[in-house]
Amino acid sequence: MKNRVIIITGGASGLGYATAEELASREANITLVDYNKEALDASKKQLEQKYPGVKLLTVVADVSDQQQVKNYVDETIKTFGRIDGLYNNAGIEGKQAPMVDYDVDVFKKVIDINILGVYYGMRYVIPIMQKQGYGRIVNVSSVGGIRGVINQTAYVASKHAVTGMTKNAAIEYGKDGILTNAIAPGAILTPMVETAFKEVNPDDPKAAEHEYASRNPTRALGKPVDVAKAVAFLISEENGYISGQTIAIDGGESRLY
Ligand code: NAD
Repeated sequence: MKNRVIIITGGASGLGYATAEELASREANITLVDYNKEALDASKKQLEQKYPGVKLLTVVADVSDQQQVKNYVDETIKTFGRIDGLYNNAGIEGKQAPMVDYDVDVFKKVIDINILGVYYGMRYVIPIMQKQGYGRIVNVSSVGGIRGVINQTAYVASKHAVTGMTKNAAIEYGKDGILTNAIAPGAILTPMVETAFKEVNPDDPKAAEHEYASRNPTRALGKPVDVAKAVAFLISEENGYISGQTIAIDGGESRLY
């Protein structure tokens, strides 16, 4: 990955940050994007301590704002001159609630971040990749982009949309050397999933975690590094012919349904 330029959205935490570490270890140049400035600064510091030679740009941006997306793309070009990979990872879970009780404002927010955020990223990065005749895009869907998940209507709707947009990008821009895939993580232990376990069982989130893990074929939750290694492959030149796929990273859980 030496001198390859990769943008990671939602890069201050969880799956985004874990992938930043994996790509830094492979000597990629990285733009880390997040709307949480404090967390982004802390991640920058940690990454530079662990990988002293890393070429790193951080940009504060809310991916649901079209101008701010354009800005992180422009800043990346100003700093690095090209964009080889986009890891379209920023996303939120919304609330846990039955469909008929779901808060419509939360629903709209989930759509704005999880669908439009991913769309804007592709909209501004693809023309640059077309000029280069090369690009790799990895969008973050979820097992909720493959099947239903009780009490998560907005999240499931948004992640199915990510799976759909991934198919379209693959068929529209494969001719330009751009391969686009999605990943569908199962339960990977990140701050987002810890919050979900707290919502499911506020008195004993660890019990919710163990219960969920016990239903996985591997009897375990995934680790952020498990996702990072798969993304590092899909977003690199090593991936020569996989496109338009949504690849589950879930210990086989989605095969139970
Ligand atoms: P996380 O909450 O740990 O990290 C998400 C990061 O995205 C945070 O740093 C947050 O500040 C940032 N972010 C959120 N909204 C943003 C916005 N509008 N603009 C810019 N940055 C924003 O969550 P995570 O578990 O690492 O999740 C990352 C992605 O993976 C999400 O799209 C999520 O839906 C997906 N996912 C996670 C799991 C899992 O088990 N952890 C499973 C399936 C899918």
